[in-house]
Amino acid sequence: MSEQELAELHSGIDRNLGKKKKIYVPYMSDHGHALVGAFRNQGLTATMLPKPDSDCLEYGRRHSEGGECLPFVVTTGQLIKLIQEDPEFKPDKSAFFMPTSSGPCRFGQYHTAQKLILEHLDKPVEIISLNAYNSYTAEGLGLDFRNLAWQGIVAVDFLQKILWETRPYERETGAADSVYEESLEVIKSGMAEDGTSGLIEALKGIGEKFESIETEPGDRPLIGVVGEIYVRANELCNCNLVRLIEDLGGEVRIAPMAEWLYYTNRKKKQDGFRNRDFFKYLKGWAKDLVQHYGERKVKSNFSDYLDESDLSEPPVGELVDNSHPYIPEDYRGEPVLEIGKAIDYAKRGADGIITVTPFSCMPGSMIISVSDLVKKDHQNIPWLNLTFDAQQSTNIKTRLEPFIFQAKKFKEKHSSSS
Ligand code: SF4
Repeated sequence: MSEQELAELHSGIDRNLGKKKKIYVPYMSDHGHALVGAFRNQGLTATMLPKPDSDCLEYGRRHSEGGECLPFVVTTGQLIKLIQEDPEFKPDKSAFFMPTSSGPCRFGQYHTAQKLILEHLDKPVEIISLNAYNSYTAEGLGLDFRNLAWQGIVAVDFLQKILWETRPYERETGAADSVYEESLEVIKSGMAEDGTSGLIEALKGIGEKFESIETEPGDRPLIGVVGEIYVRANELCNCNLVRLIEDLGGEVRIAPMAEWLYYTNRKKKQDGFRNRDFFKYLKGWAKDLVQHYGERKVKSNFSDYLDESDLSEPPVGELVDNSHPYIPEDYRGEPVLEIGKAIDYAKRGADGIITVTPFSCMPGSMIISVSDLVKKDHQNIPWLNLTFDAQQSTNIKTRLEPFIFQAKKFKEKHSSSS
């Protein structure tokens, strides 16, 4: 679907909307808190739906036909659960937020299918959107919103890294989670009340709080998780993968959310150049500059608390180059990035790679199809492809156990040879 067609189908967002309607943001990951903070800062009434549960899956399945992707089922289920179970919900005073994309998969159709389902239920709730290949430009809200949302998303990326770096070693179970949850709230309210200044103020002290958590020494294998953006970030969909790995003795990093947004800028610049739309090209270029500036601002608040490898992600161009021998850049979308990031993890000394994809995911199949080759070319790093269909399958743990064992052996071998 072209950008033009998408624009015609989907409502944009402007400041007046929040005065008339409450915006509901379906929970994908904790980055949604940053988005809600940025919406509220613009005077919009926004709230994030609770983390999805098995009821959402049930609602989603009941209103889909079986061939849809898991993220579609879960987000649809969240919307329907709200409509069916919240007596306060008013369709004409509400709007659902759903980003979209025109890439080579079904994501661009979610929005349209959800509109049809809501109409069928006689609850024609407005769905509002930002589009990936317009690099999530929110013209109606302006630069302040976009920059603030971006900085908040980057802040949550860093916050998650501190959590994953600390939690496996905490002496008191739950200590790291509690600092993390509290920090998320402080970030959201700081952003809502005072924009970027509020966000930066909120970040002060977070590192110290994590540092004050009592930890014990340990030598766990580091596992890099890459894959489809929704499922890798959403605990319900990935059966709480990070916890499972930590329980089995590993330490985890998941590819950051920011990399996808940098990638969409890159595509915007390339599209502008290819179509001789130099205004678009320049806009992509300027956006990149502003985003790097915003990232540096946020990052400086974490620099005393995170290792260099967690502080500095490679430029998207490097990920694209990493991926090039296996998936060329002309294949548009996540596989390029995710294979590039898996290789980046391997180069930075990770001891194992896990790819996560929803069952029947089209880009996910591409990632899986080249994984053997990538593994062989990178010292046969332990590699596990996991596919999720939200049946909460017990065999994930059974597959993880030998994988973590291999990752420990890989780590021992490489520490003794270095
Ligand atoms: S990336 Fe995969 S799961 Fe996500 S929308 Fe596309 S096909 Fe579906």
